[in-house]
Amino acid sequence: MRQTYAIIGLGRFGGALLETLIANGQDVLGIDINEEHVNEYRDIATQVVIADAQEDDVLRKLDIASFDHVVIAIGHNMQASILATINAKDLGAKNVIAKAENRTHLRVLTKIGADLVVQPEREMGERIGRKLLAPNMLNFIELSDDYSMAEVQIVNPTFTGKTISELNIHKKFGLNVIAVRHEGEVIVAPDSKYKIHHKDILSVVGPKDMVDDFDQMTN
Ligand code: ADP
Repeated sequence: MRQTYAIIGLGRFGGALLETLIANGQDVLGIDINEEHVNEYRDIATQVVIADAQEDDVLRKLDIASFDHVVIAIGHNMQASILATINAKDLGAKNVIAKAENRTHLRVLTKIGADLVVQPEREMGERIGRKLLAPNMLNFIELSDDYSMAEVQIVNPTFTGKTISELNIHKKFGLNVIAVRHEGEVIVAPDSKYKIHHKDILSVVGPKDMVDDFDQMTN
């Protein structure tokens, strides 16, 4: 689906975001106060504008409320990030995603109404940490404080050649197997008689500590 995005701040984060969205056929307006940064994306973005996003009328003139998503990707200049977020929300922007540099910044952006606040360095640090601790866990989604969903690759030979019911995954771990990826093919809601092969990837959902235990056991 083609949607419209305004990205304010074309640094490393905003720039990578713009490239990804454009590569996937989306409409992206890039805004930055720095002409050099704007020029880097002039040829690929749908449109680029050199402007100071903390000025009151800049976002109004760009009709910021008409975009499906507005990303405030200004990090270091906290004042500019906060003012741009307030302006965007005041003008009626629907989905404002703002990048925070630290915990205080995150609290402020949340308080002033950003719909989603991200802390890329922190989130990436956590992800890499988890990857190092659990190398078979390919993907991990936190559903709540207590529940998660993960993709776990089965490499432990004691798990292969057995069916899902023989392994007692539900009883032993309290986990539901919602899909299996076998040699690139995805089997959604696999039958409990499905026999697990070496390197199959199981998508499991359940209590977080059980997902971790399951990952350790399949190592
Ligand atoms: P990153 O770590 O993603 O590179 P930075 O905070 O260093 O993040 O960069 C954010 C971008 O935001 C820079 O390109 C900077 O020029 C731009 N920027 C900073 N202040 C403003 C502002 N008031 N209006 C528009 N763009 C801004």
